[in-house]
Amino acid sequence: MSEVGGGAGESMPADGDQDRKAYRARRGATSSTLSTLPSSGIRQFFELLDGATDLISLAVGQPDFPTPAQITRAAADAMLAGHTGYTSNYGLLELREALSRHLEHRYGVYYRPPAELLLTSGVSEALDVSMRALLDPGDEVLVPEPGYVAYQPVVMMAGGVYVPVPTTPEEGFMLTAEALRRHITPATKAILLAYPSNPTGAVMTRDALEGVAEIARDHDLFVISDEIYDRLVYGAEHVCFASLPGMRERTVLLGGFSKSYAMTGWRLGYVAARADLLEAIMKIHQYVMMSAPTAAQYAALEAFHSAEEDVRGMIDEYDRRRRLLCRRIAEIGLPMVEPRGAFYAFPSVRPVGLDGQAFAEALLEEERVAVVPGIAFGESGRDYVRICYAASYDQLSEALDRIERFVRRRLAAAGTAPVGQVHAANP
Ligand code: PLP
Repeated sequence: MSEVGGGAGESMPADGDQDRKAYRARRGATSSTLSTLPSSGIRQFFELLDGATDLISLAVGQPDFPTPAQITRAAADAMLAGHTGYTSNYGLLELREALSRHLEHRYGVYYRPPAELLLTSGVSEALDVSMRALLDPGDEVLVPEPGYVAYQPVVMMAGGVYVPVPTTPEEGFMLTAEALRRHITPATKAILLAYPSNPTGAVMTRDALEGVAEIARDHDLFVISDEIYDRLVYGAEHVCFASLPGMRERTVLLGGFSKSYAMTGWRLGYVAARADLLEAIMKIHQYVMMSAPTAAQYAALEAFHSAEEDVRGMIDEYDRRRRLLCRRIAEIGLPMVEPRGAFYAFPSVRPVGLDGQAFAEALLEEERVAVVPGIAFGESGRDYVRICYAASYDQLSEALDRIERFVRRRLAAAGTAPVGQVHAANP
């Protein structure tokens, strides 16, 4: 039996029995592309959590709230009424109409429901089909780093070249025009914009987005904008990239229901793009997914109809936790850019004398608190950990007590005093 991940990109020799036999013997059981993908740092770390008890997990990036009850009820009612088959490949027209109104109302950008909106199985699928529709082999995609774990794999699986563009705490982890310019080559096809950011919690200011827009215009680039956390901002404005002058035509806007409506398990997201791009993306979607989950689409319709108050309630509660976290992390003495969006904070653990991986492993072992090592989000996250505050206020408070105890113990052992410094967000 051949081994997994072999083959190394060879192709079958054209002739010669011996060559073909030798090729078959060397060939792996699975695709050679697979062996080039990085393994998920988050998954490796989560394996350490398996079976752990008395643990407080601030590791998983999903809302701790259940889906608002009326949304679940609407989906159950739809199923009982017989809506259990496929929908149109694009998704229910009624939902696309509601989504179109939602985007126009919130961001002033209009997408035509019949041809410019597509419902997908989460933003996960939206990312995959968008990359596959836009990229030819060798096309480069600029991606802010640290960034979400799926970005590199989706670019690579589409045959593209992932080009990380490091972002820094000094710049509030925003993507700057200068940093982008340094990474542009003749092969650059697109920028994958990802704000509010997982893992840093950074939100791009309008000025910073205008810098990105200028680059996109000057170099004729597409922008795939993952705005899954658009509703989760605290004292900051989320600017939809497609709403900037001239950007609607070169943007593939991705959004979803997982985070804003606490619907991760329903698997529903969307793509909004000009008709020719959307048609190309739909062409792939129709073969790999057929249509987004039907019950989830009825649920989303109800979410648009009646869940605004629920969303606002969740935002207020995340903000309350965020403020607790910022205050406590500053007291503990870890440098951190104040997160203004999503539900993540990304402190540096350098003052403790450990990198993020060692910090997370020791914290788990000694204090039973799980956070994710920053390296899972790219090389520039090496000295950081990601703390997710989608956990109850009490759990978060207890976890922060434990983190404080851990840091003080480490610093005392090293004979060092805490050296805290909080970078201003969005300088
Ligand atoms: N994009 C970002 C930045 C995310 O953090 C996540 C999930 O954590 C996704 C996309 C995938 O979301 P979905 O549940 O819609 O597939």
